[in-house]
Amino acid sequence: MIPRDHPRYRSLTVREALAAAARSGLVSLEGLAAHGRGEAFDYLIGERTTESAAAAERLAAKLIISAKRPVISVNGNCAALAAQEIANLQKVTGAAVEVNLFHRTEDRMRQVTDHLVAHGVKVLTGTCERLVPLAHDRGLCLPEGIGSADLILVALEDGDRCEALRKMGRIVIAIDLNPLSRTARLATLTIVDELTRALPAITAFCETERAGDLSEVADPIDNKKFLADALREMRERLI
Ligand code: ATP
Repeated sequence: MIPRDHPRYRSLTVREALAAAARSGLVSLEGLAAHGRGEAFDYLIGERTTESAAAAERLAAKLIISAKRPVISVNGNCAALAAQEIANLQKVTGAAVEVNLFHRTEDRMRQVTDHLVAHGVKVLTGTCERLVPLAHDRGLCLPEGIGSADLILVALEDGDRCEALRKMGRIVIAIDLNPLSRTARLATLTIVDELTRALPAITAFCETERAGDLSEVADPIDNKKFLADALREMRERLI
């Protein structure tokens, strides 16, 4: 039992929930390691949404509401950490939600889907095809989902799928606490913030922003600046 007044209460309860999710199979053991990398970068950024990340979240909202076929791509960690936040973002934007797993088995696909559905998410299902040119299972997706999306929101992503999606001409918004990751560097727009802070912020901005022409909104995005801002924030805290 973690005492409520413990200074790391939130971090410890999230770890406890993720460990339970790993025991049940919802989260992979590798997903726990990925969470640890995220925690380290969150520590460096001060466990808060920076001004620059908030600007990226606002831009992300504008992109999502401007997209014709936005898809939120969800893996085990995302589902375990933020099923309710995903449901809320879907409600406001009408975006499709598709499960996409690196450590993919039919059982885990069903488990992640059921967990999302239990939190009110409408999850796309159907027969996946290898529409993203990758040798591993993250290349499998639904023709009516990621296969035909103009914009894909990803979190806790690996860089090679992000790169492949960008080569296919898709707009990729990444939520990634590590501004040095390949995903962060290759995405159209990277939000360097923790998933459960970023999603509600994007949802709130979706309610106030107005849609524009997607390519016109996306073209001038200077992702390198958002990454440089995050690295500067981290450096300042280290000095
Ligand atoms: P790449 O191939 O892009 O270099 P990687 O090898 O770091 O990525 P993974 O380990 O698959 O990729 O992804 C985990 C990423 O997600 C890490 O960069 C980590 O910082 C980030 N991350 C982990 N937990 C969270 C979280 N809760 N919120 C936001 N980002 C997170």
